[in-house]
Amino acid sequence: MDTGIAIIGAGFSGLAAAIRLRQEGRDDFVVLERHEEVGGTWWANTYPGCACDVPSHLYSLSFAPNPDWTRSFSSQPEILAYLRRLAREHDLARSIRLATSVEAATWDDAARRWVLQTSGGTVRARFLIAAQGPLAEPRLPDIPGRERFAGTAFHSAEWDHGHDLRARRVAVIGTGASAIQFVPAIQPDVGTLRVFQRTAPWVMPRANRTISARERALYRRVPAAQKLVRAGIYAGREALVAGLAKHPAVLGVVERAGRAHRRAQIADPELRRKVTPDFRIGCKRILPSDDWYPALQRPNVELVTDRIAEIREHAIVTADGAEHAVDTIIYGTGFRVADMPVGEWVEGRGGMRLADAWAGSPKAYLGTATPGFPNLFLLLGPNTGLGHSSIVYMMESQLAYVLGALRAAGEGVVEVRPEAQAAFTAEIDRRMARTVWASGCMSWYQDATGRIPTIWPDWTWRFRRRTRAFEPEKFTLTPAPAAAEAVTA
Ligand code: NAP
Repeated sequence: MDTGIAIIGAGFSGLAAAIRLRQEGRDDFVVLERHEEVGGTWWANTYPGCACDVPSHLYSLSFAPNPDWTRSFSSQPEILAYLRRLAREHDLARSIRLATSVEAATWDDAARRWVLQTSGGTVRARFLIAAQGPLAEPRLPDIPGRERFAGTAFHSAEWDHGHDLRARRVAVIGTGASAIQFVPAIQPDVGTLRVFQRTAPWVMPRANRTISARERALYRRVPAAQKLVRAGIYAGREALVAGLAKHPAVLGVVERAGRAHRRAQIADPELRRKVTPDFRIGCKRILPSDDWYPALQRPNVELVTDRIAEIREHAIVTADGAEHAVDTIIYGTGFRVADMPVGEWVEGRGGMRLADAWAGSPKAYLGTATPGFPNLFLLLGPNTGLGHSSIVYMMESQLAYVLGALRAAGEGVVEVRPEAQAAFTAEIDRRMARTVWASGCMSWYQDATGRIPTIWPDWTWRFRRRTRAFEPEKFTLTPAPAAAEAVTA
């Protein structure tokens, strides 16, 4: 098929892109979604306890508020229902091709088209919006013997709901954002639960409260009230940037609250020692939970902090030589984020792969455009991630810029200038150097070179300001041949 714009992914960003295009009166696009349903990561992640650790009022599109959130932090089913509703209300079904995975995307310079090889055939498009999401490819750890395990094993993002955990000896590897949600949820059901922790995370109180029927009615009747609450949450979260990105030393105050949380929830000094982080708060994602520490203290749970040396047919062996017999392994080991798998299957001018252009460290002007890759826009691309607020805010900011670029490009070709990207990357690296993310911990925010290509190292309102309007001077614009002839004549 031939189309104007191909959008990869019908998750939060892909759906938002489609809605914004519709709002602009455009219909010349198709959304390609590999899963059988819309929702992206919120469709794929169905693990028990799955929820968002960003407050609901902020973790939604600014132009499509949901007055009906029932909790201050929404659960996965509610977020998925919200995304499905958006798709329905904006009549997106006719523009979405489900169960269609994009295997390769190649820029055809002569035809000025992206050529996509998909599981449903070839798609040609003038523009490509890559909205496949930063948390799309589960990462399994490189532990010797992993393949030999004879029990049941699965990743948290590919939960095996057919596997009965009752009475099993279950091992959980990882203590990140996903594990701290599903461990308390499965703990009452399993026989025994061994949690293998490599690095103790900072865990803070969550205070997930019910949004009352009265509040919801108010938000429905007076949308400005919800906007106000959203603005308050945004401002409160944004204040953290002062510590995270500007003056990490002030994070000591936040650490005090983390220590108090541990003291309040854990009586055993030995367990408290084991779960005490050894890095500055914020360097890795801060995890809100009120039931993580209590779950670790249940009689059927053991926290193992010795390094995993090997996995055998029926056991996990730690560096101290202990063999922990297990029936089930659940990997809460995160996603391929910093190496951005999209780089491997997108080929720009002259057959150059994005991954080669990035040379081990993803870079893009405003996280959105890369030289050598005309008419390609990355949503939630390099350095648009956040450790403190809603990624939806960043993605919406990018969309304003992308829509401007599409308007400017018309039927032509638009490509960011190398010097614009180089200056932007230098600025990012300079700002990053003083942030908490560069304060010495090991995290998935870093790539193999040690650079941090994931996080926006500044106030988010600055990103919003910079993406408000497309900047033609940062790009080369080549009009479509017919338009070019008209100009010459
Ligand atoms: P994660 O935060 O990256 O955590 C992965 C965990 O696995 C870490 O504890 C890590 O330990 C451990 N690990 C990795 N490789 C290991 C190995 N070889 N041996 C032992 N342990 C290993 O992954 P995630 O929990 O799936 O979350 C990923 C991201 O998804 C989050 O940071 C967040 O952005 C998003 N998420 C968001 C929400 C939400 O509420 N919005 C919920 C879930 C997930 P180390 O710390 O030592 O590396």
